[in-house]
Amino acid sequence: MSVYVFGHKNPDSDSIVGAIAISYLKNQIEDEEYIPARQGDISAETEFILNRFGGKLPELKTSVAGERVYLVDSTDKPHFQDDIDEATILGIIDHHKLGDIMTSTPLECWIRPIGCSNSIVKEVYDAMGIAIPKDIAGMMMLAILSDTVIFKSPTCTNVDTKAVKELAKIAEIEDYKALAQEMFIVKSGTDGATARDLNTRDYKVFNMGDVRVGINQLEMIDISALDRRKDEIYSDMLMMKEEENLHTMIVLLTDIMKEGSQLLCVSDDIKKIEAAFNKKFENNQVWLDGVLSRKKQVVPFVQPQFD
Ligand code: MG
Ligand code: MG
Ligand code: MG
Repeated sequence: MSVYVFGHKNPDSDSIVGAIAISYLKNQIEDEEYIPARQGDISAETEFILNRFGGKLPELKTSVAGERVYLVDSTDKPHFQDDIDEATILGIIDHHKLGDIMTSTPLECWIRPIGCSNSIVKEVYDAMGIAIPKDIAGMMMLAILSDTVIFKSPTCTNVDTKAVKELAKIAEIEDYKALAQEMFIVKSGTDGATARDLNTRDYKVFNMGDVRVGINQLEMIDISALDRRKDEIYSDMLMMKEEENLHTMIVLLTDIMKEGSQLLCVSDDIKKIEAAFNKKFENNQVWLDGVLSRKKQVVPFVQPQFD
């Protein structure tokens, strides 16, 4: 019986490349077949990565009841298929807070507080003594450069920078920062995107206490490109809050050059979110200097407001 490997809903490059890289690794050392999968459409950034290194689009898998699965890049239940409880989880590779996924059988688990799941995948390849193919190395390298915002994110560690350097060597990419810059230009594109496209680009729901909090993040080279669309984004946030039954919806417009985020918020109790950051919001928004990481600089401050 095959094993499906996939990351979170609304897949990012770490989720897609992780599925590909883990599947290849497992197929070198296990008897059963590991198949890379995904839970939704890929982003323009991920498409750039797959095209650059000839990666194949993983298969769409929106239901996993009765399947054997391997998870990457999250352990939060809302980030997986609605029937994830009916799947057997064989393993997890992740770099987020421990979520609410439970298993009924022993599993292999590689969770580390570093910049990218793919940096952990690289360590597992090394631990198992398996050589990383050139194309997969290139994709892993870009996934790490994406998650760490070219090493600028506070989540980035020397494990990540070392992994990128070694993967760049295998992939034979000399100027990996220039390639990453090209990738972030693709990622920053908003032409033709509706407000809903923007609000769901990197959207995640978190169970916090008794409520659901939605947090979307747009990482851009220059967020002023969205200045004229703030009202439209805000109206759509109000709609999403209703549709998704959220207590709070946050959008982070992250400017990777200015190294900070404009936080937009609609909430049943905005005082909680103001308290989380110890800031007064104006027009339901606030600039957070130095904030680049949702997992390290946003979720850990919002979550205690609901505990
Ligand atoms: Mg991710
Ligand atoms: Mg990740
Ligand atoms: Mg990310």
